[in-house]
Amino acid sequence: MVEGMHQDRHFFGEQASTAYYRPHPAGPAGPGQVISRIDAPATATVVLGIPKALCSLLIVIPVAYVIAAVMGLALAAAGVRGAALEYVVNLLVVLLVLAWCASGALLGTKVGGNFLARRVLELRPAVGYEQARLQMAWYGLLHGVGEDPAKYSLWVEESTDINAHACSGGIVAVTRAALERVPAGHLQAILAHELAHHVRQHARASALLAYYGFPARILGKITQFFLRLTTAMFFCNPFLGLFMAALWFGCLFPIGLIMTVGTLFMAATAAFDRSTELAADRFAADLGYGPALMQVLQHWINEGHDQAYAAMSWWQRLTASHPPAHERIQHLYTHLQRRSQHW
Ligand SMILES: [Zn+2]
Repeated sequence: MVEGMHQDRHFFGEQASTAYYRPHPAGPAGPGQVISRIDAPATATVVLGIPKALCSLLIVIPVAYVIAAVMGLALAAAGVRGAALEYVVNLLVVLLVLAWCASGALLGTKVGGNFLARRVLELRPAVGYEQARLQMAWYGLLHGVGEDPAKYSLWVEESTDINAHACSGGIVAVTRAALERVPAGHLQAILAHELAHHVRQHARASALLAYYGFPARILGKITQFFLRLTTAMFFCNPFLGLFMAALWFGCLFPIGLIMTVGTLFMAATAAFDRSTELAADRFAADLGYGPALMQVLQHWINEGHDQAYAAMSWWQRLTASHPPAHERIQHLYTHLQRRSQHW
């Protein structure tokens, strides 16, 4: 869910939102009406992630070489020499790179999702009354749309913000504040939005992007470090600065260029992220939770979320993953109005 701007309804509009289930004008859809399927914004996220993943190889391959070289030293100490040693080291490099390429598949599993939820997102499984409250809302929602509860697990984030997340591996998490302060109907509306992130594969697409883009992010940090170092050196000692600049243009410029292009991709990916939010809102609205979701978003506005958004820099807005709440309300309103005209 989370807060968040802009969307291009011409790309991923009404047809996309109604193609995966039969909407019902009077309330939640009936059993068997939701079909899990990747939608256009999630597909775009995956496609835009490919160049970033290729940038990541610029880190993954050297790391694989280092690991293979260390293992090669151990093999040399054990008596392996010459062509046999070279063959084993090269094979190790290929296997390590292939293992990294294949490891993203783990993100879609419960084990991979749980690991990310605990270690990266700092979530914990819902217990006791949290589980009881969440299950009541979640199972009611899933029963209404014919989804299997066994595909999902319920988690909690310790936060005072009213929010929720859908994470790869079937994880649905809500904040403690949402659990304690949000009325049951509104909680179900928030969960309907998160369900959309799962059934339309938004959660899996973002997890893949984050995972395969992580080495590229490290590369970006290294590039930024060298840029700052070059600038600082130039002002301290022009000759040293010129040497660093030559090194930069000779060796690091191609990487810098790739990272610049990557930054542009970042803005495009964020735009698709915002589209997934609006698509998830429409999904929830089509299940009958539009008015409740609008009230939740209005609550965010009352809490100052949109004021914080307005205070962001142009770049922060361009790369924001969520539209501001007032735009989401407007989008929902327009969507519901169009829907009502069709019935
Ligand atoms: Zn969302």
